Amino acid sequence: MKLSELPSVDEVLNENEIIELIEAYARPMVVAVVREELNHLRQVIKTAGSGLTRTEIRELTVSSVVERITTLAEGSLKRVINATGVVLHTNLGRAVLPADVAEHVKLVSQSYTNLEIDLEDGTRGSRYSHVEPMLNRMLGCEAALVVNNNAAAVLLALNTLAQGREVIVSRGQLVEIGGSFRIPEIMKMSGATLVEIGTTNKTYVSDFANAITDNTALLLNVHTSNYKIVGFTNEVSLEEMSHLGRERNIPVLHDLGSGIMLNMHRWGLSHEPTVQDSLAAGVDVVTFSGDKLLGGPQAGIIAGKQEYIDAMKKNHLLRALRVDKMTIAALEATLAKYLAPYPEKHLPILGMLTMDIKEMRAAADKLAGAIRKKIHKVNDQVDVEVTKVMDMVGGGAYPTEELPGYAISIKVSGSAEALAVKLRSGSPAILTRVQNNSVMLHVRTLLSGDEEALPELVSLALEETSS
Ligand SMILES: *Cc1c(COP(=O)(O)O)cnc(C)c1O
Repeated sequence: MKLSELPSVDEVLNENEIIELIEAYARPMVVAVVREELNHLRQVIKTAGSGLTRTEIRELTVSSVVERITTLAEGSLKRVINATGVVLHTNLGRAVLPADVAEHVKLVSQSYTNLEIDLEDGTRGSRYSHVEPMLNRMLGCEAALVVNNNAAAVLLALNTLAQGREVIVSRGQLVEIGGSFRIPEIMKMSGATLVEIGTTNKTYVSDFANAITDNTALLLNVHTSNYKIVGFTNEVSLEEMSHLGRERNIPVLHDLGSGIMLNMHRWGLSHEPTVQDSLAAGVDVVTFSGDKLLGGPQAGIIAGKQEYIDAMKKNHLLRALRVDKMTIAALEATLAKYLAPYPEKHLPILGMLTMDIKEMRAAADKLAGAIRKKIHKVNDQVDVEVTKVMDMVGGGAYPTEELPGYAISIKVSGSAEALAVKLRSGSPAILTRVQNNSVMLHVRTLLSGDEEALPELVSLALEETSS
């Protein structure tokens, strides 16, 4: 067809499907997308020509416009089934909240709340007052504050306590956490000057003592969350740092990263310092994330001595880092789990980490059976087995710890990678691991409802990859 036969914008706007679209969506947007689509077609026809009739072109334009607008309006965040066995996955949104925590968020977000009002005397209150008493009680600290994430917590602490002055850090702790959190960069942003001491593998308390000047504002200890230095090493303990800090009257800040509250020893995990351990060691301020091993929403929690937390509350930077009411709602409901017995039974993340190996085996057997039953109706060339695997904590915690678990391995005659891609593009999307040309579904990270949905989803994906 010739360019002159392209439908006009008005012609397309008069198509029934587009009229319906204008009833559901903003007219100017629909008009703009119609224009864009016609311009696009004009270019295609100019360069490549088109064997299509005038009617076909009009239909193509209409269906593209409908597709583009409905896809846009759906948004793109959706449920993902995590079959990777990595419990805390930053790319998958870290901690999963329990249903009643989500319910509390829903309640608070669908109504007015007492976010910043003291209901007793009607005066202005503080949004930070809601979770502070809980944190103080749980951690035995004097004061606490919550900001947007742990990166914000570290930034606020450094800026408040050390702007224009020096902060001493061991070279073994100049960490980078995935997603661009780097100690030297955050230090620069805060206006503090980084003073590196020791070497990558060995730092002594004397290195700290020798680096202290009149301009030293802070001693900083950063938890090496996502790596371990092993072999010929020496790290200065929090106790030693706190002792030195008290002696020289310099506060000690601990960036702990993952805010684990429970001692995980009894579930066979190696010891990871808890928030309580950090404070008990004598540090003045500790910072940690809300959505790592704490199992709550994205947040940065700052806990410690009143005078330092009060100074942070007065810092104008706090206004730019402040948390929303939904975060506060999710966090207080999450923290409440720790005031009750067995938090590991109520927080999905902790449940996954403390899962019994026999239960995991039973869940894997059951799921493998259901998948076999479903797919062997359409394809009996697929091998479905239960295998032992290693799961991971992830999310910048326990970097070297492997958790024994079980997975369903699906061996296809074709490419396992192709099946994994197909599973990932479904709805809900399923994230898996590929090993030895098999798709692995780790059961540890499955949530309730996933097991029921998987056989059908896997079967569909298999059909689509083999056809
Ligand atoms: C994860 C982590 C951070 C960053 O925390 P976010 O909550 O992701 O901002 C900072 N420091 C350490 C040691 C961490 O482990």
